[in-house]
Amino acid sequence: MRSETFLLHGAYDPDTFGGVVNPPVYRASTIVFRDMEDMETRAKAMSTPEGQELWYGRKGTPTTFALQEMLAGLEGGHRSLLVSSGLAACTSAIMAFARTGDHILICDSVYGPTRQFADTVLKRCGVTVTYYDPLIGPGIRELFRPNTTVVFLESPGSQSFEVQDVPGICAEARRRGAKVVMDNTWATPLFFKPFEHGVDVSVHAATKYIVGHSDATMGVITANRETWSTVREYVFAAGLHAGADDVYLAQRGLRTMAVRLERHFRQGVDVAMWLAGRPEVERVLHPALPEAPGHAFWARDYTGASGLFSVVLKPGFSREAFRTFIDSLKLFGLGFSWGGYESLVMPFDPRHERPGCHWPYDGFSFRLHIGLEAREDLIEDLEKALRFLHAR
Ligand SMILES: *Cc1c(COP(=O)(O)O)cnc(C)c1O
Repeated sequence: MRSETFLLHGAYDPDTFGGVVNPPVYRASTIVFRDMEDMETRAKAMSTPEGQELWYGRKGTPTTFALQEMLAGLEGGHRSLLVSSGLAACTSAIMAFARTGDHILICDSVYGPTRQFADTVLKRCGVTVTYYDPLIGPGIRELFRPNTTVVFLESPGSQSFEVQDVPGICAEARRRGAKVVMDNTWATPLFFKPFEHGVDVSVHAATKYIVGHSDATMGVITANRETWSTVREYVFAAGLHAGADDVYLAQRGLRTMAVRLERHFRQGVDVAMWLAGRPEVERVLHPALPEAPGHAFWARDYTGASGLFSVVLKPGFSREAFRTFIDSLKLFGLGFSWGGYESLVMPFDPRHERPGCHWPYDGFSFRLHIGLEAREDLIEDLEKALRFLHAR
């Protein structure tokens, strides 16, 4: 079954709930057992890595199980677990493997809050971190130490959108016995299949395209067979969980993800190309554009692009003009997150979060999320706002 069909018919059989098309919302803390024997049987199952029983609300309900199964299948991993946010998925996937004295490698283009976690909590736990150039590829072998246990990838990178040589990095990690965790949020499980490229654990901010409507936060951790029990042990031990109603929203959002992504992809590329032709623009950082960093890896390994990319302006515009440009956009909301149906803009400067990073631009930069609006309206909106850059 292809992914587009799997989204609709995979994992969940309506017959389970008397023909109800969508898995119902189970709100539960206590699950009562029929008797001691029933409790003991389920306890036995839960004590094995593959155990998935109705045991206690925090450990999942049929609502959770249905979405987890769907996501694991879609991504091609062994099993998935849901947590309350994308950030929790990132940090937990690292914590599942990191021990005091370990060294881990994280790409320099990682999502800012993931980096902050590494620089504070991981550091406090005695874990050292080296940030690597996202375009390093197999050259990452030089950075391994005897105690390197985890390589954390995010491809393409936050803000700067470098696409990484995922299989090249995974091969080196495997050789050194390190586990590879990848934040695959941008591509969604539709456009990049991490487990086919050597990743051990994939994480997503389901908050973005999976929920798809800017109305819930959620994270997904998907493990391969080899790492599953370690991930499960950590998630259960730490008490991580996603609420029933949010799980339902994610399940509902997921059904239309393929059609939404197709449009985000198409119009994202159209708007990116239009911007690349504008005299105010220095560079458009969109993985599908040939001049984007790591474009060759995107072309080799990805089957599509989502609607998120960055734009760098030519140097010389005043800060005030740039602010007026951002404020003049009518259809692009100024706000964090992305992946909903609507267009968004967010100014950034990667040098604020990435000390010493290679950022060869002097102009202002901003990130766009291209939503599902008509592209002509989005382009008109951008065109009008760009005029303010020239105002004195
Ligand atoms: C948004 C985002 C996250 C965090 O997700 P939240 O649900 O907001 O915590 C993690 N990684 C990437 C790449 C993101 O874009």
